[in-house]
Formats: sequence, structure tokens, C-alpha cells
Amino acid sequence: MKFFVNDACIGCGLCASTCPEVFKMTDTGLAKAVDAEVAPDAEASALEAQSGCPVAAIETV
Ligand code: SF4
Repeated sequence: MKFFVNDACIGCGLCASTCPEVFKMTDTGLAKAVDAEVAPDAEASALEAQSGCPVAAIETV
């Protein structure tokens, strides 16, 4: 499973604190997901970050 952050991100930082293995805050103040398959042991927290995003900016492929 791969994750990405769409244009709806408002930079609240929640995903990066919930799952720092996958989500990082960038210089623009918005979040970015790692550009790689998420390891199975990080998937649960990444999905938790996705459901916690207040603007539904996290998508999976
Ligand atoms: S939780 Fe959503 S709005 Fe907040 S930084 Fe992450 S992607 Fe952006």
C-alpha cells in the first residue's frame, strides 16, 4: 500500500505526529508521504493518520 497527500492538506501536522514513518512536514508547511510502499508494520498507523486527517487529504493507491 502507498499513501499520498493531496492538495486539500492544510498543514495541521497530525499525520506526521501519528505516523512519522510515512508522513513528513515539508518546507512549504504541508505534509508529504514517503514515495514508497509502506511496510506492513507501519500500515496500521498510516491508516490511523489517514482517518484522522481533518480534511481527508490522505489517499491510498
Ligand atoms: S493530517 Fe491531513 S491536513 Fe493535517 S498535515 Fe496531514 S495531510 Fe495535511
